[in-house]
Amino acid sequence: MAKRGREPMYKTIFAVYHKPQSECQFFEVQEKEGYYLARCRVLERYLTTDQVIKCENYWRTCPFRRIGEQMLEED
Ligand code: SF4
Repeated sequence: MAKRGREPMYKTIFAVYHKPQSECQFFEVQEKEGYYLARCRVLERYLTTDQVIKCENYWRTCPFRRIGEQMLEED
């Protein structure tokens, strides 16, 4: 994996150094050694640090959350 400085590139983009919290039902947190990763179950991928901030603060208006809710209704 590509590295920038001493940190692997993925950590620069995805690592969060506070425990992220969102009331979105599709938001998942994984605890790693010294950092956290957040994942969206709608997008089925890890969230960048910028996206995590949006999930924490603006989850109510997230368009992906609406898509996730629609997908649950169709099941
Ligand atoms: S991107 Fe949207 S749907 Fe996904 S976890 Fe964040 S707020 Fe929820």
